[in-house]
Amino acid sequence: MSETATREDEIKAVGRRAGARVVGIAAASAFDAFVPEGHRPTDMLPGARTVVVAGGDGPTAGAWRCPDNRVMEITGYDLRENVAVHAMADHIERAWSHYAVQAPSLPVHGHAPPMSMMLAAELAGLGTRSFAAHIILNPEYGLLYYAALVTTLPLLPDRPPEEPACPHPGCVAMYKRIGTTPCLRVCPGCLSGSIGADNRIAESTYNRERCHTRAQTYGIGSLQKALATMIDEDDPARRRQMVNGDFFTKSLQAVGFYRDSIAQCFECMRVCPVGRKHRKLA
Ligand code: SF4
Ligand code: SF4
Repeated sequence: MSETATREDEIKAVGRRAGARVVGIAAASAFDAFVPEGHRPTDMLPGARTVVVAGGDGPTAGAWRCPDNRVMEITGYDLRENVAVHAMADHIERAWSHYAVQAPSLPVHGHAPPMSMMLAAELAGLGTRSFAAHIILNPEYGLLYYAALVTTLPLLPDRPPEEPACPHPGCVAMYKRIGTTPCLRVCPGCLSGSIGADNRIAESTYNRERCHTRAQTYGIGSLQKALATMIDEDDPARRRQMVNGDFFTKSLQAVGFYRDSIAQCFECMRVCPVGRKHRKLA
């Protein structure tokens, strides 16, 4: 690291070296306007000043090209944003003697995580909400997966992108022509919305429950459901069939690899032009 590099540059370089595609910085206090007490950085780490967010690639360019789209489910995720967050947290504690803790992004009870990684990514200037399941799209890379750390170290926050990543200019042109966008057209059951005269999202709805039946079929919930059904099953032959069947097997796999939050449907992202250039190799 050069003598003139700022701490902001340095921590981002540490994160990128550990596998993050992008790293952004948010002020801990910026969360206060959006989330209630109990979900703010200072609730995770007393005296928190900063949240550092890492965005990592999900599927590789090759995974997006696989003719069997179910392959994305098992090859699309490598957790590198979490590795980057741990490397940055270690750096903050060892080099600068400030506390750092990984932001909790999985539920500790119920279904809501203590901290929203979507909000963290937005506040760190890494992306904006989209029509597609309100996924945060990075203007350059499109779909990324986010992890964050909370620290007592004061750092200068990043600014939000000048322009929202969604809708892409091509989607605006399509909307003007036929009244829909690629993602809205591919999943009308879950997604709806409109683009205003300023070419920005005017209104957007996402039916999360319906999406879950396609995108989050396997995980802790499906394992619980399968177990309850099997326990109630009186016929031993039918019960054995259930134990050895695809639904229970895939649920076990999902829990075994902790892929509960990994999607089993990528179709609204498959058609999204944002970041597509990075999915096309020479
Ligand atoms: S992930 Fe699949 S089911 Fe969910 S909104 Fe996107 S296309 Fe629809
Ligand atoms: S396809 Fe277009 S409208 Fe849909 S999320 Fe991507 S940029 Fe937004």
